[in-house]
Amino acid sequence: MDFQPYIPGITPANAGPLSRFTPPLEEGVISAWLPLHAAPFDPAHAARKPGSWLLDPFGFSPRLVLEAARAGYRVLVTVNNPITRFLLEMASNPPSEADFKAALADLSVAKKGNDRLGAHLQSLYLTTCEKCGGETYAESFLWRKGEEAPYARVYTCPHCEDAGERAATPQDMENARKIAGTDSLHRSRAFERVAELNDEYRIYAEEAIEHYLPRPLYFLTTVINRLDSLELTPERRRALRALILVACDAGNTLWDHPSGRRRPKQLNVPNQFREHNLWIELERGFSQWRETGPGVLFEAWPHKIPENGGICIYEGRLKELAQEVKKEIPIAAVIGSLPRPNQAFWTLSALWAGWLWGREAVEPYKIALRRRRYDWAWNATALNAAFTNLFELLPLGTPFFGLLAEPEPSFLTSALTAAGTAGFDLRSLAMRTEHDPIQILWTCGEHLKRGANEPSMEEVRSAIYLHLVERGEPASYLHVHAAGLIALAETHALRQKGQEFDDALRATNGLIQSALSGDPRFVHYSTGENVDTGLWGLNDVTLSRSPEPGEGAAKGLAAALPQNDMTESLADRVEVAVVTFLQKNPNSLYLDIEHELYPRFPGLLTPSKAMIYSVLHSYAEQDGAAWTLRAEDLASARRNELNTIIAMIETLGRRLGYSTSKRDKNYLWEEKDQIERAFYVLASALISRAIAETPYPPERSAIVIPGGRAGLAAYKAHRDPALAAHLKRYRVVKYRLLRTLAEVPVLTRETFDEQIASDPLEKSKSQMMMF
Ligand SMILES: [Zn+2]
Repeated sequence: MDFQPYIPGITPANAGPLSRFTPPLEEGVISAWLPLHAAPFDPAHAARKPGSWLLDPFGFSPRLVLEAARAGYRVLVTVNNPITRFLLEMASNPPSEADFKAALADLSVAKKGNDRLGAHLQSLYLTTCEKCGGETYAESFLWRKGEEAPYARVYTCPHCEDAGERAATPQDMENARKIAGTDSLHRSRAFERVAELNDEYRIYAEEAIEHYLPRPLYFLTTVINRLDSLELTPERRRALRALILVACDAGNTLWDHPSGRRRPKQLNVPNQFREHNLWIELERGFSQWRETGPGVLFEAWPHKIPENGGICIYEGRLKELAQEVKKEIPIAAVIGSLPRPNQAFWTLSALWAGWLWGREAVEPYKIALRRRRYDWAWNATALNAAFTNLFELLPLGTPFFGLLAEPEPSFLTSALTAAGTAGFDLRSLAMRTEHDPIQILWTCGEHLKRGANEPSMEEVRSAIYLHLVERGEPASYLHVHAAGLIALAETHALRQKGQEFDDALRATNGLIQSALSGDPRFVHYSTGENVDTGLWGLNDVTLSRSPEPGEGAAKGLAAALPQNDMTESLADRVEVAVVTFLQKNPNSLYLDIEHELYPRFPGLLTPSKAMIYSVLHSYAEQDGAAWTLRAEDLASARRNELNTIIAMIETLGRRLGYSTSKRDKNYLWEEKDQIERAFYVLASALISRAIAETPYPPERSAIVIPGGRAGLAAYKAHRDPALAAHLKRYRVVKYRLLRTLAEVPVLTRETFDEQIASDPLEKSKSQMMMF
């Protein structure tokens, strides 16, 4: 396999509507990948050949499709979720801000009895200020699961500016109970828009609607009812629907308090949750739909898209599309965010589709209401069906760029098993941290039926061992799991002939875990017992021992690596690479640094943002968005300082009555041919290297670093338990301590020893990002 570099992107400034449910992808990734793989360089058309067709068989990420279309590609998307379809349609051509505002104004001034609808709906959230007693609107009410009334409200008083979370008043509780009294009427209206009275799915719709409290349900049914009767232009109706959709999501009970950052996968009510003021959500909703990029053409199949790109939606099954596509359009590449089970979003999507468009819209998607349990075997089976259909319609060698967001070991096993057994060959897998999407490249394989091979524990072990050797430091379980999976994918051993996905996934995950836990070369760093948590590394003994003949392929390769490469940790190599780059390229953007670094550390070695930032904060300063090495960290300045410190160590040694010398990279203080102290002086935070090159007993060795590196060294020790264990035995001394000691007029050996024992590697405040 040819490990490709991770393609860096940018976290979008606006995550967009329903972002708790759409995959968290970075922007700029797909548009960087496409010109390299989906269209050969064509000088007549600048860097890309316009009009190439792409296929997204999952339609799971509207953002991904939109970005590809904006890059000038024609993207055919199969979507069966009506809400995702709507997100995609809206993103390709959102209504103007004026239309959003006009639509909301029309809704607001509609009559409700003698009142205006807007005033009536806002009054649902009236509360009194605890400080001045004035009337104000609650921004939200806070609830405990199962209770009949909220326990608190959050407001900002316009009269006295009192703001924050305050206990609910008896009136707040009374209001909540009052609206609950009329609930059954609104609730049955809400069911009826989704399923008919005698429909077998009705019970599932009822269960889903349980995730709405009476007040938001009253609010939403009132507004939705009005959506049908208001006279609006089609554009404003579309805008109002979009606002209501945002309110539909804001109105459910899946907003946990106080964290509020959960990405729900299941319809479970949190123990404490937030009931949003839905009028405020309607007013603010349009900002979520704002697009900064240009609009793109959006058509439904079989309408075609012109050569300058756009989105073509196919609202049916991939299987049915396959025959039509095969005849009509050549697919240059397949792209897609791999779907993961989300019972909450799928069930709510069916509900919202009914509310927004009526029962007919739910019909093709109704199954989502019923199916309550989605596990990884279900996921693998569904993905495998999609890959199998794809295989039928693609020419040999067609690339498939898949993004696996919110990765976890079982998800990765599911995806690789589903694709591999459908005839797709794994070409690359690039992974940063368990918080970033994994970037996977497959190609459509030989049309021959491939036999499934027996999985080999030894090959899994070798692959994991090699990854850890290459990394030079412990890795997360997800990383070693991926290394094992790749070995199994390459040998076509992920699923046996006729094996159910359920059994195949269990066997694979079990095999990788046994490979780790049953091998003394591997060390587990974890607070828990489970194999699939914490970090995995190599025994020191394993690393320093030279491989014996006939010990297997992995050892052979490891032996071929020079000793230094074997122990140089990824963190140390990243530090060197970043500093070298900045030395040559002052005023670099963070993204430039990632572009330089990722090809040097491809595949599973991709350094995290936190690691790169830790190096930057240690060595460089920022001017606007540009990073430049600090004056004192330019190579020449550092060299001078290094020489000063070395001279100081010699002077101090002589003052304390030792004879001083230099052996390899260590500065020694000796007495009667006995080594009393060894100093290894660094301008960097390459502590692992220093330890590897210090042959003296740790209690007599000191590693000397500039104070500006202490934060970086602490960061490294924090993420690498093997390094942290070493550092407990070695003294790390900062330049400034030696300078201070050099100034002390009467220095004794005892004072010196005491002082260097009390110079902790404190953690600097800005660098506590963990990954
Ligand atoms: Zn007040």
